[in-house]
Amino acid sequence: MVTFSSKNRAQLLDNLQKDSFELLIIGGGITGAGIALDAASRGIKTALVEKGDFASGTSSKSTKLIHGGLRYLGQGDFGLVQEVGKERAIVFENAPHLVVPEKMLLPLVKGGTYGRLSTALGLTVYDLLAAVKKEERRSMLSKNKVLELEPLLNKELTKSGCVYSEYRTDDARLTIEILKTATNYEALPINYIEVTDLAYNGDKVCGAKYRDVLTGDIGIISANYTVNAAGPWVDKIRNKDNSLYGKRVHHTKGVHLVVPKEKLPVNHALYFDAFDGRMIFAIPRGKITYFGTTDTNFDGTLESPTTSKEDVSYLLKAINNMFPSCKINKNDISSSWAGIRPLIHQEGKAPSEISRKDEIFESQSGLLSIAGGKLTGYRKMAKRIVDKVCISISKKGKEHHACKTENISLGSKVENVEILIDQVNTILENNNLHICTAEYLVRTYGIDAKQIAESAIRETGDMKIGLGISELRHCLNKESIHKLSDFFIQRTGRLYFDIESISELLDVCCEEMANHLNWNNSRKEAEKDEILKLVEEATLFL
Ligand code: FAD
Repeated sequence: MVTFSSKNRAQLLDNLQKDSFELLIIGGGITGAGIALDAASRGIKTALVEKGDFASGTSSKSTKLIHGGLRYLGQGDFGLVQEVGKERAIVFENAPHLVVPEKMLLPLVKGGTYGRLSTALGLTVYDLLAAVKKEERRSMLSKNKVLELEPLLNKELTKSGCVYSEYRTDDARLTIEILKTATNYEALPINYIEVTDLAYNGDKVCGAKYRDVLTGDIGIISANYTVNAAGPWVDKIRNKDNSLYGKRVHHTKGVHLVVPKEKLPVNHALYFDAFDGRMIFAIPRGKITYFGTTDTNFDGTLESPTTSKEDVSYLLKAINNMFPSCKINKNDISSSWAGIRPLIHQEGKAPSEISRKDEIFESQSGLLSIAGGKLTGYRKMAKRIVDKVCISISKKGKEHHACKTENISLGSKVENVEILIDQVNTILENNNLHICTAEYLVRTYGIDAKQIAESAIRETGDMKIGLGISELRHCLNKESIHKLSDFFIQRTGRLYFDIESISELLDVCCEEMANHLNWNNSRKEAEKDEILKLVEEATLFL
């Protein structure tokens, strides 16, 4: 049985109810996914439940960098810089199609956060701590060189600059790829299953009660250990366990805006000073450039953070300050996203100053909760919590393997990404598609890109639609999609990076999904309405 086929859900739910698991994970973001792969690959019988789509929480709304965390150096978090620096090299090795080395340009500006000497010194320490390869280490640049590389930068403000190494990714795709890999080790991840309560044997937690979000059915999952990896919702689960004491999660909102590449045609990813002492990224990606982020306290509804007009004003002011000739205004914004950081509260600290370190809380009932952390450090976070579970399992005399995720490829490893892109390009040749299409397919689906392109060219009619249908069928067969939004957001990123393709594909994709999943007319209409609402939210700012 293909665990990730959208058609197998009923069978998987049956297994979820009937089997007894060693470990149950609540939350299918990057944290939960990492834990599922680590545990399952050690031989631990693992289930994971996610109340929405996989990666539909914070793990599809980040800046999408696998980074060494330069800013944490300034906060004195040397351990964090060292750990995430090493981790990004491991993720790059294990998922080369998903992790793209990116030279980051840091312009040094008048009155800015970074001075030339401190930056040269800081980046040297950063390169050493993050074990950056010699050829990829930082280089300092003159003002002329910086402006030659990025002619649109503010010439009055720019004094000099430097380039250093970062990596770009797709957070949601990384999460999905980790979960798919976990199923190779017999993990059982299911989306649209919400934990409504914990289950107890005496005073010890022994699994969870759930509601199937798609059908309303309820049930119980039995597990010896339960890990709460619910990201921004971690404290809600701790509350159900009556163990919400001591440290708490602090929510801050981060917004990114998207403009067409022509409006902000930067040649590199940039990390630059906003006007208020904060730092902001601008990242070119295919047809668009996105920039952000904000960092403001958040006490709204966790399920639906949105981009406000204040967020837009702030980011436009910052981007126009650094790229004055681009004159970007509200009407240029093609999309946006807002994510919630699940940070560990630190009294008296402003949002940007709060540490991004992760912490584990263990309650009297045995519930293990994990919060804080970064996308980049997901593997180490997973190792720490599964190590804890394993110590307890060992005490009961059961055996398991040591952690081996350092050497597990995510998906089928693409040996040479550039060659694969060339091959896919050849398949799609003369089909009037955007120049970035082959790269998009390979970076999104890895080795499967070839088969998706091959079946796309067998479709008749408009090639863009043929490709969309081919991708959709792949996701139905292998990527557990149950709603149109799963396809347009978490699997393909179209809502953010190719929003105009949604209107072209909406009707045909809805029909195709309806045929596969037996949707009636009212379900079809509801699905399409939801997409139109999401498009509106990403483009209308109240
Ligand atoms: P989530 O992704 O939110 O996953 C938790 C999941 O639990 C959710 O999907 C939710 O639906 C599910 N859940 C909640 N309650 C229940 C329940 N009762 N039953 C079942 N499921 C439930 N990190 C980096 O390394 N690089 C970056 O560039 C970066 N940029 C960022 C920019 C922004 C704006 C933000 C907000 C964060 C950024 N981060 C970055 C941090 C990173 O994105 C987060 O640390 C990470 O995504 C958190 O993942 P998570 O799995 O803990 O949470």
